[in-house]
Amino acid sequence: HGLVIAVDGTSGSGKSSTSRGVAERLGLRYLDTGAMFRAMTWWLLCEGVDVRDAGAVAAVADRPAIESGTDPRDPTITVDGVDVSVEIRSDEVTSAVSPVSVVPEVRARLLGLQRDVIGDGGIVVEGRDIGSVVWPQAEVKVYLSADPDARAQRRAAEQGATDLASTQQSLLERDRIDSGRATAPLTMAEGAVHVDSTHLTLAEVIDQIVALAPG
Ligand code: C5P
Repeated sequence: HGLVIAVDGTSGSGKSSTSRGVAERLGLRYLDTGAMFRAMTWWLLCEGVDVRDAGAVAAVADRPAIESGTDPRDPTITVDGVDVSVEIRSDEVTSAVSPVSVVPEVRARLLGLQRDVIGDGGIVVEGRDIGSVVWPQAEVKVYLSADPDARAQRRAAEQGATDLASTQQSLLERDRIDSGRATAPLTMAEGAVHVDSTHLTLAEVIDQIVALAPG
């Protein structure tokens, strides 16, 4: 069926676990758009492109073939046929992804790929601008947030990191770039339901979103 659920929000708000859980519960596909920006960034770094040079990034943004697997139990991402699911989570990619994401040619290219995957629906899509730009007609739009302390704790646990303060600092830095940028700033989409996950368990957040889906 055509149902599209857009889940936007900041890093560490629990978007990925939540979106995958919702997709599994409702038998929908799943798309992680952040992984596509990370895959583009990984490829640029491999090619030796200076990611701070927007012109250089723009000039090659149409080259890598990026494909997303949409099974919520086993989401995959490939670049030119190579699975980079692990590589795209590295610190190098994480610190280079925000400047890459502001390049309009990158956004235009990935937005096209995202719309192709979303197609006729049946999918939970997580990102920053899904409900506002990529698929404003989504039946369900969620804006997921959590306090910086909770987000840093989750991210540190995920990565086995011990330095909470520096984890929090890097999250806030990415937030700052992602919400302050002129192209596709992170904002709450019109018609989005705000879910604050700070004091909720993962299961509770999933329940709340599943309850928003039309029966
Ligand atoms: O969601 P994740 O943290 O993996 O996203 C990585 C980066 O990709 C974000 O910090 C943001 O700069 C960018 N992004 C974006 N638009 C999206 C999804 C992610 O600009 N729809």
